[in-house]
Amino acid sequence: MAFREAGGVLLCPPWDRFSWQKHGFGTRNANPLPALTLRQVHSGDVLLAGDFADRECEGDALVTTEINRPIGVRTADCVPVLLLDPGTRAVAAVHAGWRGTAASIVSNAIEEMQRAFASQPCELEAAIGPCIRVCCYEVSDDVAARFPEANIRRSAGSRPHLDLAAANRDQMIRSGLAPEHIFDCELCTFCRAELFYSYRREPADPGRMLSAICRLA
Ligand SMILES: [Zn+2]
Repeated sequence: MAFREAGGVLLCPPWDRFSWQKHGFGTRNANPLPALTLRQVHSGDVLLAGDFADRECEGDALVTTEINRPIGVRTADCVPVLLLDPGTRAVAAVHAGWRGTAASIVSNAIEEMQRAFASQPCELEAAIGPCIRVCCYEVSDDVAARFPEANIRRSAGSRPHLDLAAANRDQMIRSGLAPEHIFDCELCTFCRAELFYSYRREPADPGRMLSAICRLA
């Protein structure tokens, strides 16, 4: 689905109906400014936003119901996933590279929303932001072996390609999300150099995009 661009930030159109939240996926041109991010370590660790400062704690996903405290993640090829719960107004921001995805980071975030706020997975909605897509994401056989074969594309004479966005989508569906509640911008950070930073394309000097979500009321 095409996400809408506003002031250089990408928005998930179906979430226009939720006036109680604000969210955005950054680009080269602009970034949302989350109040709280983590020191990301490619883990499966989810933190409930608490009484700690920006970049004080390590982990790769944040969940909260706090009002006016935007939470966010930094990415440049890894998958940014934002989640919201229309019932409890809980929100989550997830950083899912291959290691985090292999550690079920997005499923862990959903579990934390269930545990902390009694969210029902079938009511949650998710937005998948720009990331390196299967067109461009060559991985080693060792990395490919950590993922379901359905998330790997193989062709003769080239290394396997990993569909990290699909791996996260499949995890969310296994966790109970409805497929029609998962919105994907379908943009590739490696293909779209004019719009996005890419760690793979510019390893020497990769910029970072921020993705954030905030409960407003
Ligand atoms: Zn691509």
